[in-house]
Amino acid sequence: MSCKRDGSIYAAKLQPSYSGVRPKLQGPNASFADFRIDGCKAHGIQGLINLFGIESPGLTASLAIAKYVEALLAEET
Ligand SMILES: Cc1cc2nc3c(=O)[nH]c(=O)nc-3n(C[C@H](O)[C@H](O)[C@H](O)COP(=O)(O)OP(=O)(O)OC[C@H]3O[C@@H](n4cnc5c(N)ncnc54)[C@H](O)[C@@H]3O)c2cc1C
Repeated sequence: MSCKRDGSIYAAKLQPSYSGVRPKLQGPNASFADFRIDGCKAHGIQGLINLFGIESPGLTASLAIAKYVEALLAEET
């Protein structure tokens, strides 16, 4: 229980956590945007892969993303 009966909070139950600003690919009222992975075809620079908007589940998807990036790099060379 974090709250007392009167609705106030036990200070000892509070813990510091992170905060910050998360960059987004889409505007506030726009619909969902998937991960954006740009290789040479998108920007013209061979050997550069940009990964944008890797939000949840980016960590879980990281191995699959790595394989995809590897394939993109192999395609370019
Ligand atoms: C609260 C929270 C919970 C999450 N939970 C999950 C989860 O349960 N499961 C899951 O799969 N995913 C989860 N995610 C998403 C996951 O954390 C991200 O998808 C993943 O970390 C993205 O990896 P990244 O390498 O693209 O970006 P990041 O991990 O953000 O790495 C970017 C790096 O670039 C550096 N950087 C940024 N700007 C610059 C600059 N201008 N110059 C130099 N360096 C720079 C940063 O310091 C950082 O080290 C969660 C994310 C958040 C915020």
